[in-house]
Amino acid sequence: MQAQRTLKSSIRTTGIGLHSGKKVELILTPAPADTGIIFVRSDLAGSPSVKATPTNVGDAVLNTTLINSDGVKVSTIEHLMSALAGMGVDNLFVSLTAEEVPIMDGSASPFLYLIQSAGIEEQNSYKKFIKIKRKIEVRKGDIYAFLEPSDGFKVAFEIDFQHPAVIDTQQVMEVDLSQESYSSTIARARTFGFMKDVEMMRSKNLGLGGNLGNAVVLDDYRVLNDNLRYDDEFVTHKILDAVGDLYTLGHGIMGRFYGYKSGHAVNNLLVRQVLREQDAWELVSAETQKEPPISYQTALVFN
Ligand SMILES: [Zn+2]
Repeated sequence: MQAQRTLKSSIRTTGIGLHSGKKVELILTPAPADTGIIFVRSDLAGSPSVKATPTNVGDAVLNTTLINSDGVKVSTIEHLMSALAGMGVDNLFVSLTAEEVPIMDGSASPFLYLIQSAGIEEQNSYKKFIKIKRKIEVRKGDIYAFLEPSDGFKVAFEIDFQHPAVIDTQQVMEVDLSQESYSSTIARARTFGFMKDVEMMRSKNLGLGGNLGNAVVLDDYRVLNDNLRYDDEFVTHKILDAVGDLYTLGHGIMGRFYGYKSGHAVNNLLVRQVLREQDAWELVSAETQKEPPISYQTALVFN
């Protein structure tokens, strides 16, 4: 049986936005049971907020951005959301002094460290999980993503980059988070980008804060960083992103995700489709579940 979780105490850090390049302070503050994950823009008058939900995702080009009804934005939420999913944090206020969540080292690992440092508080309510009862699928051209019934929480991903440095790595991967640890199998995989896309990104004011300290960067032939953290860091990062994007549903999932060349946009189409197909799943309480779909580890491995 698993209780809902928040943090024991507030904790803060600073960093820069991957896309904006702007300095930002991030403060994580405990929240009551059944609150969900609420982002707060403390730099704006009245400290407006926006909850992480599938329908509040307003932009998913190269990152996942939340937009509230007044147009207030919080961008690049996916790695923090992934860390919160991996640690089973249900309820939290995430306060920011700028539009973008700091990129830190490009992975979810620094956020796990923050969560671990603040400590996990178990709350007086049971967790709820979204139990997938039949397949829910979305497609856009040759890209697709689906959720299907399964024990535990399995996440599978296939990428197809015809790039010499990526072809050398595994481009298909599946993890079973009821058996494997999020912190050691996924959390350290960094975001990645191609030099050839930098000009396009800069013309859209994206990627302004990107560098070899917070992203794996590839030219036409090779990885420019000294080394990779995992042999299959590219596909592993896509799994990290998918775990974060799925968590905008507000609950862990009992089922199997599969993404083929998917990204934030198609991941968001899928979670929106989940909301539409109410008969394809049910919300189950952890009170009635003997085997949790995900094992939340607190012992982390850092190096
Ligand atoms: Zn990412």
